[in-house]
Amino acid sequence: MAERGARSALEITVRGVVQGVGFRPFVHRIATRCGLDGWVANTPGSVVVRVEGPRAAIARFRSLFRGEIPAAARVTRLLSRMVPPSGAAGFRILPSRTEGIALSTIPPDIATCPECAAELSDPKDRRHLYPFTNCTQCGPRFTIVSSLPYDRERTSMAAFPMCPACRAEYGDPLDRRFHAEPNACPACGPRLSVRGPDGTVLTTADPIGAASEALASGKVVAVRGMGGFQLAVDATRDDAVRALRERKGREEKPFAVMFPDIASARTAARLSGADEAILAGPEAPILLAPSRAGSPLARSVCMGLSDVGVLLPNSPLHRLLLGRAGRPLVMTSGNATDEPIAIGNTEALTRLRGIADLFLLHDREVVQRTDDSVVRRVGRATYPIRRARGFVPAPVLLPRVFPDVAGLGGDLKGAFCFVRNDAAFLSQHLGDLANPLAREFYEEAFRFFRTFLDSGLRAVCHDLHPAYFTTGFAERAGCGRRIGLQHHKAHVYSLLAETGFAGKAVAVAFDGTGYGEDGTVWGGEFFSVDGAEVTRAGHLARFPLPGGDAAVRAPWRTALSMLREVSGRGEAENAAERLFPGIPPGTVRLLLDALDRGLNVVPTSSAGRLFDAASAICGLCRHATFEGQAPMLLTGAAGKAPAGTYPFSFSTDRGMLAVHWNGMIGGMASDAMKRVPPGTISRRFHDTMAAAVLEAVSRISESTGARSVLLTGGVFQNAVLLAAVLRGLRRMRLVPLIHRRVPPNDGGISLGQAYYAAQRVAGGE
Ligand SMILES: [Zn+2]
Ligand SMILES: [Zn+2]
Repeated sequence: MAERGARSALEITVRGVVQGVGFRPFVHRIATRCGLDGWVANTPGSVVVRVEGPRAAIARFRSLFRGEIPAAARVTRLLSRMVPPSGAAGFRILPSRTEGIALSTIPPDIATCPECAAELSDPKDRRHLYPFTNCTQCGPRFTIVSSLPYDRERTSMAAFPMCPACRAEYGDPLDRRFHAEPNACPACGPRLSVRGPDGTVLTTADPIGAASEALASGKVVAVRGMGGFQLAVDATRDDAVRALRERKGREEKPFAVMFPDIASARTAARLSGADEAILAGPEAPILLAPSRAGSPLARSVCMGLSDVGVLLPNSPLHRLLLGRAGRPLVMTSGNATDEPIAIGNTEALTRLRGIADLFLLHDREVVQRTDDSVVRRVGRATYPIRRARGFVPAPVLLPRVFPDVAGLGGDLKGAFCFVRNDAAFLSQHLGDLANPLAREFYEEAFRFFRTFLDSGLRAVCHDLHPAYFTTGFAERAGCGRRIGLQHHKAHVYSLLAETGFAGKAVAVAFDGTGYGEDGTVWGGEFFSVDGAEVTRAGHLARFPLPGGDAAVRAPWRTALSMLREVSGRGEAENAAERLFPGIPPGTVRLLLDALDRGLNVVPTSSAGRLFDAASAICGLCRHATFEGQAPMLLTGAAGKAPAGTYPFSFSTDRGMLAVHWNGMIGGMASDAMKRVPPGTISRRFHDTMAAAVLEAVSRISESTGARSVLLTGGVFQNAVLLAAVLRGLRRMRLVPLIHRRVPPNDGGISLGQAYYAAQRVAGGE
């Protein structure tokens, strides 16, 4: 007990990812070191610390506390205040108070920590080479939870009673494995096994050796990872990668590559210090980074795209496998294209039959289907592209407490979001809901979140698209009130939710397509934001989008429609002959006929489709085999040197600004016909788009007095455009706000929907 006399007491409340990451033992350690009395406890969604003792000791505690927070913790809010001393004696870890929102006590999965990695490679350690080593600082969390509250009995580790040695670690407050729920060792924990392509058990004492041998000979190996199965092949062998593409039905979409360590990752990607910190962080996401010249990867990995998706081993199993294989491995979701990732052994043996040559299995069940997350780096920090393992279910904290509501998301990148108190819980990425298995997955995940958030669901918010699965689901969700919200407004609200911004702003939502409020298809939108009000203030000039959503697959069709808008049918037909060789003139004429008669076309202001058309005009992508291919090829080609801009203009109709691209598209077509290199045209195009955005923002901000600018929508995944717009805004002394917690693409709109509905319900509307 600390010395009596002038005692003070300090209470600290910490929110964020602070449970299941060794926070309480850490506090116990430093409080004891400072000779302080008090306690630490988990409460729903936070850790509360109370220390009492001499003022100087408390000051020392404060500085140790800030300096030594566990690496796996992610503190999003920290509140400290002096309180009257209560006369506590000794320092204790109090039992958890888990009533309330149980889901908020589950941390996301955490990549192997340095201590566990050291044990793994230490021949004298009892966990030497043990693929399921973990501690309070690392290991599976969300992916093994079957019900709540989060403790071992309610995870897939319940099947593995701890041996005396593990139990002792688990029960010792000063041990790194104190209450490490998935704690395990070779004596008591999960084990590996190997099966052949037809499911026959292959007896081996060295499953990882068997898998790495298969990989070395170009075979496809299915690996049971943290959030589900992955398919691995040698990323340096073109034949192996092509075989995987063939079997998986994945034509050209790039694969992510896992490297044994950061040094080998550097051989394939240009990585900054900040990039390396993201890769080695507790989330261990796939990072999109520029490919390096002379990369050892087979060409069929990235299929000519300029960026490569890089990740490091996120579990001991992956560390051991990559270490043995000694080469980079393609590591892609264990599924046939468009299906959700397989998680069960039996499920994988069925669904991945014919794809995998070997199965590396284990007996720790994956409960929550969770893909690898994908991020970019923008500035010094993470910019999310796909939010799943490592991030889910950590909530996005909202500026205040709201009623229970949910946002149902969009269909292309399924994800929903529950608001509970002042926290927004997004589901993991659920895939393309056009797929029936993905829909099942959606409904199953929705039930899980709803139950474990104990949500009193007072409203659900859905997209305006009547044909969306999620719009139909709103009716079946079993909740009285349904609120519709326009797609791009939802993008804006999602950025408002994650930033807590509530003043005046201009918002730019550059996106694919979304159902508009006026019967047209929106996607290149400018909004005026005032507090919680979001009003459309402008858009890209409309053009007829042929064949609706089918246009995504055929960028040349969108390009032809835009060329026809610029210079009429005759000129467009001539241009098509030169710009789209290989498209039969009859096909071109048929489409022009349809456009002339307005058959099967919808007017759109979509920025995404404009980027598609630009890619086709440059000759980079006339047909796309996956979503985003055309703009990725366009951006990848963009030259570094500024090359001037194309003309663009504005008009205003009853206060609504329209951005006209005729001069730009005309200029691009004429450059392309003059054989100006695609890199130059692409550079000019990006700079023109950035200049047009900046000019539109400046006009709107002048009329509203807004000084902040929100950038959202899938098009802002484009690193070249984003960088140019950010530079311009700073030059104009405007304050840009971008996504840091949820993706700018449709994977993030459920947060915006939920935030909007929460405000409506809270306001008594
Ligand atoms: Zn660890
Ligand atoms: Zn054990």
